[in-house]
Amino acid sequence: MNIIFLGAPGAGKGTQAENVSARYGIPAISTGAIIREAIRNGTEMGLAAKAYTEKGALVPDEVVIGIIKERLAEEDCRKGFILDGFPRTVPQAEALDKMGVVIDLVVNIEVPDETIITRMSGRRVCAGCGASYHVEFKPSKDGKTCDACGGELTVRRDDAPEVVKSRLDVYHEQTEPLKAYYEKAGKLRTVIGQVEVADTTRLTFETIESGLLPKKADLYDTAQKRGSD
Ligand SMILES: [Zn+2]
Repeated sequence: MNIIFLGAPGAGKGTQAENVSARYGIPAISTGAIIREAIRNGTEMGLAAKAYTEKGALVPDEVVIGIIKERLAEEDCRKGFILDGFPRTVPQAEALDKMGVVIDLVVNIEVPDETIITRMSGRRVCAGCGASYHVEFKPSKDGKTCDACGGELTVRRDDAPEVVKSRLDVYHEQTEPLKAYYEKAGKLRTVIGQVEVADTTRLTFETIESGLLPKKADLYDTAQKRGSD
């Protein structure tokens, strides 16, 4: 079972990738994490990536794909894997196809931009102990200071509305065309992100379980063929 998770930054796809990984016992592979791991392990592709990151440059597609290829060849991927954060662009998806990586399902977690902006701009982090809060969903007792240590609650730079908006713009421009790419291949399934994470998780499991079963029409075709033999 080879699955790709798609979704805007802040849509919660990383959380769902982890949930699916735990339920089906297949690894969730986050591109950022495996690049750091390959660099640490000094693999051939890791060394290539290191040369770019040391210059502060983006790691080019062919190196990222090489690292993914190395990772997918490992033992724990035999039963399947989840890709989280890759592909990010149509050319990357095409490269993955060319590499012969068969994808069974692409799960798209769909959340409106306004919801993402509200969610992320409401996050607060304690400057003292790093505890996280949310003005709406998980407020501290007095709304200003940390319940645990009394530290000041701050907004991370990444959560500022203008930063979130610009990341969403990049997503819509570069990554969202993947929906059409995988729709055309008959692999796209969309899960509407719910208010409660547990509800999104349940929908994600249902989508994966129904998506991996043969479609009713396929079963019907098989039955028809058998009948005419
Ligand atoms: Zn604190």
